[in-house]
Amino acid sequence: MQTTGPHHNHDRAPNASSQQPSAGHEKLPGIRHVIAVGSGKGGVGKSTVSVNLAFALQQLGGRIGLVDADVLGPSIPVMLGLSTGQPPALAADQKIIPADRHGLKAISMGMLTGDDEPAILRGPMVSKYLQMFIGSVQWGHLDYLIIDLPPGTGDTQLTLAQSVPLSGAVIVTTPQDVSLKIARRGLRMFETVHVSILGIIENMSTFTCPHCGKGTDVFRRGGGERLSRQLGVPFLGAIPLDADIVTGGDEGRPIVLEKPTSFAAQAYVAIATELAGRLQGLPTTVLKPFAWTWETNEGEPAWVESAVRPTGSQTTPVGFRRRDARTLSVLWEDGHRDDFDVRDLRLACPCARCVEEMSGRPLLDPKSVLPDVAPRTITSGGNYAITFGWNDGHSTGIYSFKHLRALAERDAAKVVEDV
Ligand code: ADP
Repeated sequence: MQTTGPHHNHDRAPNASSQQPSAGHEKLPGIRHVIAVGSGKGGVGKSTVSVNLAFALQQLGGRIGLVDADVLGPSIPVMLGLSTGQPPALAADQKIIPADRHGLKAISMGMLTGDDEPAILRGPMVSKYLQMFIGSVQWGHLDYLIIDLPPGTGDTQLTLAQSVPLSGAVIVTTPQDVSLKIARRGLRMFETVHVSILGIIENMSTFTCPHCGKGTDVFRRGGGERLSRQLGVPFLGAIPLDADIVTGGDEGRPIVLEKPTSFAAQAYVAIATELAGRLQGLPTTVLKPFAWTWETNEGEPAWVESAVRPTGSQTTPVGFRRRDARTLSVLWEDGHRDDFDVRDLRLACPCARCVEEMSGRPLLDPKSVLPDVAPRTITSGGNYAITFGWNDGHSTGIYSFKHLRALAERDAAKVVEDV
């Protein structure tokens, strides 16, 4: 397999400057980060996660807003104990004054229509409402605006994801396989609109017995973590199955506020910490989304040596280049350059057809891969991965930047061993 192998170039690229690419500029005036919380289907606890995550981020010192984008089935008013059916007041500048619950600012369709009058809206109206909820609400200065998306991965969600300048999306899933399959669909949806995935949260994980403290995996566990590993997206953490979460939600007293020392509340805070950390260090890749035809080099991405800096990330590429017909070069923000033989990349495909999901056992027989296999297309996937359309018809692998960098490190180590 090791023919040319990746050459690890440890020299700093010339023109390395310490100038940082403009990090974390505000996408909406006054709001630092807009985070969508999505799920492949309803009932996985997405809204519960949105509410508790909002309060957990608040505990870390953030100013938080929450948009209930589930205009057809709003559940946030109940979870926050907000009065419904009373149109919110307007400020002097005609902006809507959001509800305030323990310092958390929130807006929901339920506040306008009341509980028992589900809004009947079609897709385009849904997205108009969402835009109003974000643009015409007096949010003031916020560190995080959380958007609780409607469940599912249909057109409505796509429009919503596109109509707001998101910092990224969080996917909530339960440990069951069906749910994971659906979560995967959610991930793909965000990828197609170039929204980066901030991570996966596994909800209703281990049940901790309130009497004996022993943990039981009611719905199995580890699915979210496995999914994130396979797709190369971060795993943000797991929330236990806990009856107090249900009562807290039904009574408008979220567990993070109500029982801050409980295991579940602490799990939310741990996830918030992880998420905040990721957002602060979010790789602001200088590369624009690309769809690149390998043979003609049409649509070739940029190669930005000026973005290289000594403290740069090891897993943020700042350049891709077709070095020759068989070699893909990657320039990383920390100044390393890796030259990948394209057949080696095909052999390293991480998809479920090439690698067994549970054990990580390779399923692809190297002998079945033609010597002249090459990409037809290389496409950016969000800002964390690239995907290949290969000339042998294969195209299901998502090569996360982490996976690519690990491949390079592994093969560099192998070259040293061989010598
Ligand atoms: P979704 O927004 O995905 O439709 P909800 O947040 O409305 O889901 O939650 C669905 C139900 O599951 C609610 O009754 C909620 O209280 C309950 N629930 C959510 N998370 C948990 C958990 N970790 N443990 C126990 N029940 C939970």
